[in-house]
Amino acid sequence: MKKSSPSSSNSWNSRKNIAQMEDIYCHCASKVVLKTSWTNNNPGRRFWACPNYEKGSNCGFFEWLDDEVCSRAKQIIPGLLAKLNKRDDEMTQMQIKESKLEADLVMASSRLEIMKQEMNELKIEVNELKKKNRKYRCMLNVLAFGVVFMFCLIVVLLL
Ligand SMILES: [Zn+2]
Repeated sequence: MKKSSPSSSNSWNSRKNIAQMEDIYCHCASKVVLKTSWTNNNPGRRFWACPNYEKGSNCGFFEWLDDEVCSRAKQIIPGLLAKLNKRDDEMTQMQIKESKLEADLVMASSRLEIMKQEMNELKIEVNELKKKNRKYRCMLNVLAFGVVFMFCLIVVLLL
């Protein structure tokens, strides 16, 4: 029994075309490639073309795979595409901002590391200065005691 309805025969035709065209070579002896048109007149309509299509040096091989897009789709699809492209642009901008922020964060954390190191060095310096200070105070105490002792000795000797 053979099933046949307009819609299934249409998709069957598409599959048949894909299978038939996969091994077809264009006029510059390259395998043809399946592309999708995004022009306002043929939005989303697939076609077979020379792999150099859209480049300057193509042989001109071109064959539609899909039937022509209905007028309603022609009205709607370009608007949807524009919205999608706008979203894509916004996403790209956000990704750029995000990577800039990440780079800033890396810079800030490396600065923080440097500041921490400098702070540790300063703490070590302060500790050394405190030690020196204690040593000098001790020497000063000894000197003061010596002076007082000598003074007392002189006073005792004079009396
Ligand atoms: Zn070609």
